[in-house]
Amino acid sequence: IGILIEPIQRLVNFARLYQEGITGFDRFMDILEVEPDIQDTPGAIELKHVHGHVEFIDASFRYNVNDDAVLKNVSLHIKAGEYVALVGPSGIGKSTLCSLIPRFYELNEGAILLDGRNIKEISLRSLRRNIGFVQQDVYLFAGTVSDNIRYGKMDATMDEIVEAAKKANAHDFIMELPDGYDTDIGQRGVKLSGGQKQRLSIARVFLKNPPIIIFDEATSSLDNESEKAVQDSLETLTHNRTTLVIAHRLSTVRNAHRIIVLADNGVDEQGTHDELLAMNGTYANLYNMQLINVNTLEHPAVVKD
Ligand code: ADP
Ligand code: MG
Repeated sequence: IGILIEPIQRLVNFARLYQEGITGFDRFMDILEVEPDIQDTPGAIELKHVHGHVEFIDASFRYNVNDDAVLKNVSLHIKAGEYVALVGPSGIGKSTLCSLIPRFYELNEGAILLDGRNIKEISLRSLRRNIGFVQQDVYLFAGTVSDNIRYGKMDATMDEIVEAAKKANAHDFIMELPDGYDTDIGQRGVKLSGGQKQRLSIARVFLKNPPIIIFDEATSSLDNESEKAVQDSLETLTHNRTTLVIAHRLSTVRNAHRIIVLADNGVDEQGTHDELLAMNGTYANLYNMQLINVNTLEHPAVVKD
């Protein structure tokens, strides 16, 4: 929850800097995401062209020295352009695993490689510039709709913002707001639904256009229209990008090239939906339980948080 709360605490700062005209995207990323204790290693490199091959090698992580490890010796690889769904019970470490890729936290053991290079050797700015993160709970900043999308790329033109919003299936609902793209949102402004907020954050990622996407799917059910729109835009977004989705919906899991099932002992099973069902193991159990519990074959969540 730390990484979710942090950005809010920094909102005030950000609003001030923004008014002062410090609008560089990297500056924003600094304020939004950099954990104070995580810094560039001396001689950290800037990445030129990123393919998006992500690899965990015996990665272990604990939040505090005295805590049990959340991740123990996790090894996995995600090929460039692959669409991988991460499933597993609540609290198993899915969000934690994802937050390690942009280096929100430092591994205790092992390594994470991006295109074969340890992420510790890459400058944070360069690393994070190549990763789009759509979190479960989207926080919007005080300001207009277009301001909020622009955070994906601070020097974006209005045309680029509208194009990103269209790809994110957000344009239509934005046009129905009182002042369209100029509508004030956030605390004082118009209230948006969870699905609408998520589409705005997807629009940010379209604008940023990174080779790697991490998407923490909403656990609470979105309204039907939003859910379909989010699904559709996610499909477009994942095209030709490395995608890691923490999946709660069967529809998301089914579309994945590969499903990784996380359990106490690390990566428990991997495969496509059909392969995992045929294995008759953890995934099949999760799936079958849900089918018994949920009376619809339409959208049973594979794992509920
Ligand atoms: P999941 O996303 O699979 O539900 P999380 O990665 O959120 O699981 O959490 C894994 C474990 O790490 C849980 O036991 C959770 O309580 C703990 N945890 C998550 N975030 C923090 C944090 N910022 N500080 C300490 N413990 C945390
Ligand atoms: Mg989570």
